[in-house]
Amino acid sequence: MNKQDAASSLKEGLMQADSPRARRELKTVRVMIALFCRAHHKAHGGLCPECNELFLYASERIARCPYGSDKPTCQKCPIHCYKRDRREQIREVMRFAGPRMALRHPLLTLWHLISGRRKPPERKKLGQ
Ligand SMILES: [Zn+2]
Repeated sequence: MNKQDAASSLKEGLMQADSPRARRELKTVRVMIALFCRAHHKAHGGLCPECNELFLYASERIARCPYGSDKPTCQKCPIHCYKRDRREQIREVMRFAGPRMALRHPLLTLWHLISGRRKPPERKKLGQ
């Protein structure tokens, strides 16, 4: 996976996400995965294949989110649409990148915190 591929996968993901909210969520996820990848996989200027796959998976989930523009952040979402192993993976990324995000991307983090407080529009329990 080279730099170009990683960049075009981000673009692809952004094109799938059609609401501004989903787009911002996607950007946040991308930044978090990149932080994680740089620290753990020593990838330079992009994501390693593994993290790129995770990002593509996440962007697909975000794009298909039934909440659309009312989307809560995934952490607060009552629909757990991630597969089990992907959820573990993204959780690990968030745990690592969360505190670091605040330093490097204060605005994105602020947005993430604020939107995380929003209640999902409808409380549905779908298993889990
Ligand atoms: Zn990686």
